[in-house]
Amino acid sequence: MIVGVLGGGQLGRMLGLAGLPLGLKFRFLDPEPDSPCAQVGEQLVGSYTDPATLDRFAAGLDAATFEFENVPADTVRRIARSVPVFPSAQALETAQDRLSEKNLFQSLGIPTPSYYPLSHRDDLAAGLDRIGCPAVLKTRRFGYDGKGQWLIQRAEDANLILSQLPAEPDSLILEGFVRFDREVSLIAVRGRSGEARFYPLVENHHQGGILRLSLAPAPNVSVELQRAAQAYAARLLETLDYVGVLTLELFLRGDALLANEIAPRVHNSGHWTIEGAETSQFENHLRAVLGFPLGSTDCRGVSAMWNILGAPPNYEAILAVPRQHLHLYGKEPRSGRKIGHVTVCASDWEAVHQQLEPIRALAPQT
Ligand code: AMP
Repeated sequence: MIVGVLGGGQLGRMLGLAGLPLGLKFRFLDPEPDSPCAQVGEQLVGSYTDPATLDRFAAGLDAATFEFENVPADTVRRIARSVPVFPSAQALETAQDRLSEKNLFQSLGIPTPSYYPLSHRDDLAAGLDRIGCPAVLKTRRFGYDGKGQWLIQRAEDANLILSQLPAEPDSLILEGFVRFDREVSLIAVRGRSGEARFYPLVENHHQGGILRLSLAPAPNVSVELQRAAQAYAARLLETLDYVGVLTLELFLRGDALLANEIAPRVHNSGHWTIEGAETSQFENHLRAVLGFPLGSTDCRGVSAMWNILGAPPNYEAILAVPRQHLHLYGKEPRSGRKIGHVTVCASDWEAVHQQLEPIRALAPQT
């Protein structure tokens, strides 16, 4: 069977690596040559909006998916005319816009931070009046790794922030700043039959808006909290008639969960599942998209995942650390860029932290 993947980044690469043992073949479409996927399947270099390229991409595929959230929904629609594509264009479109995402959360009774959509930069004052300070101003679309967002500490700073925005900003959304205790994410998967499975909540630590460390299962999470997060994700999966892996990012404040956003794809906070779960998020996404039975989401002990950002560290020194699993994405190093990750798995947190310590020191952010 041949699976087509829109996007050729590390998520696509890890999808490919998960699919090879199942006998799957892959075709990736990415505008950049030599993408991280080029080594695990056929790569088409071309635009997501060129009809001839899309037809070439779709020819002979058994199913298609995407690993990149900013693929135009119309691209997915066009491919869906000839090949089953999951998740759907509608799910992708919802997740591409922070406002439609938040409106969906609200319509399903999933708590979110307070929010106020701006259609024009002049609406900011009214928004700040409603939400109060501090607040976070975000572009509705194309934000990632903390890019496209500005913290507004005081209403007086609004004009300064506005003057620093790109000349023609996308529509913006203002959100209440959440003084969260922790950031967590829930990785869920739903098959073509409608069966859904959930990984345990993951605790995520960011630096400068970029994910640095994930701990799985998130320590000190009650059964009730896990259930609440699963119930929220289940509502989203059902409503979107979703097929594939969906990631729900949440803020945890006391016992309350507030939904921040969804990613309609496999997610960085689920990389630990490659070694730390019975079935990885990548394999489960492929199983879902192809209509196969889903695999167990049970954990194999506890895991920590550390992102390698920026300059390449001393890989030999990392490989010498026991119980680590090093993943490199074949990307050119650049400041703040995710070029790989390391997962440490063990039966208890003490052992995980003991092995993680040297890895953190060997792979600092650059
Ligand atoms: P996002 O792109 O929405 O995932 O935001 C990136 C990071 O910024 C999040 O992981 C949080 O650490 C922080 N952040 C985003 N929105 C808020 C908010 N409303 N309140 C506090 N922190 C936020």
